[in-house]
Amino acid sequence: MKAWQHFCTINHHKMLVMKSCFRVGLYRQGLLHDMSKYSPSEFLVGCRYYQGDRSPNNAEREIKGYSAAWLHHKGRNKHHYEYWIDYGLGKDEGIVGMKMPVKYVVEMFMDRIAASKTYQKENYTDAHPLMYYEQGAAKLGSMIHKDTAALLHKLLKMLAEEGEDKTFAYIRKNVLKKGF
Ligand SMILES: [Zn+2]
Repeated sequence: MKAWQHFCTINHHKMLVMKSCFRVGLYRQGLLHDMSKYSPSEFLVGCRYYQGDRSPNNAEREIKGYSAAWLHHKGRNKHHYEYWIDYGLGKDEGIVGMKMPVKYVVEMFMDRIAASKTYQKENYTDAHPLMYYEQGAAKLGSMIHKDTAALLHKLLKMLAEEGEDKTFAYIRKNVLKKGF
């Protein structure tokens, strides 16, 4: 059991996301980000499958065939597009990603920056979160709403090209003001 290491990993991640969220005025989300990771359903699994260099959910998934911790997590945290997967309104649509409120798209963006920083360490650059997203985007299909995907992609591109200060200012002044 790597309880202490896992506890520190969660705190470190929450601290990174909180700082970024505060910079764009998302105080409540900054404070409450990923709170369910402290619940027994997620915390104990995180300790048992602690990896250090990747998510313990991946290890749990490989061993059990599914990750109970992740299913618990994505059902409770609105900054994950997986939270918003539901039956589409169209008759033949099946299960699709619904359009996410903009404030959660921004929190998802901050979450991705924090994860890239943690896993890349000194190799991190502002272009990394975009690269990571583009590698996986094609596989998402209709599981993420097209407007949600477009906004996330736009912010990631802006980050890669113009850096945090400009992108965060744009989010504060343009994205969050209009989106609510
Ligand atoms: Zn999360």
